[in-house]
Amino acid sequence: MTPTASLPCPGCGRPYDADRLTDGRTLRCTCGHRVAFPERVGGPPPGAPLRLAADAMLGRLARWLRTLGIDTCFDPESDDAALARRAVAEGRILLTRDRRLLEDWRVRGHRVHSEEPLEQLVEVLSAVGVPPPGGLFTRCRMCNTELEGVPAGEVQGLLPPAVRKNPGPLRRCPGCGRLYWEGSHTARMRETLARVLDRVAAGDTGAEGAETGSRREPGREAGAADGTRTRNFRRDRPVL
Ligand SMILES: [Zn+2]
Ligand SMILES: [Zn+2]
Repeated sequence: MTPTASLPCPGCGRPYDADRLTDGRTLRCTCGHRVAFPERVGGPPPGAPLRLAADAMLGRLARWLRTLGIDTCFDPESDDAALARRAVAEGRILLTRDRRLLEDWRVRGHRVHSEEPLEQLVEVLSAVGVPPPGGLFTRCRMCNTELEGVPAGEVQGLLPPAVRKNPGPLRRCPGCGRLYWEGSHTARMRETLARVLDRVAAGDTGAEGAETGSRREPGREAGAADGTRTRNFRRDRPVL
């Protein structure tokens, strides 16, 4: 029988069962040191589309990310462990307002600093890169399912009277049944997102990002939460 792999506490050398450290979990030794594998785990495999997991504080940010077509799970009922494990299992970069979460769980993630959703969006896109063009309005803002086209005739009765005459392209969410149509609200969202993407393209990294590089406190281990850019998400390609 193979003996169970163990990892020594960096402080006192006490061995810890490696099975307790799966999915990036860390343990606090009684001597005060943290026991963990050195590498962060999770995130999309090379070449795979970007996938994100937003913590319970980031619901509005999650909806903006979905609007851009980025697969972003959000479950306000998830606790830290469930969220971290789901992020690893599904190859998602974890977005969180809680610095402790990315210390307790060594998963690939990005700590969000701002409390304001659009500032958060600038922060996240500058960290993970902007999505490829064509994703806008392709995913349900509410449940993250990819939308499908639907002929106007099929849903005529469900549209507001003002939209019925000239509905434009219609999309339906196969997950929750919600209907999406073009209108003044989508025009406003396009404008809002264009401003966000302009800022990202100009190198703005968000509310607290003016002093790039100083976000990481001295002494904090290198390669921590940020720097999670995936290959197929490039900031130099327009989205809208
Ligand atoms: Zn120890
Ligand atoms: Zn939906």
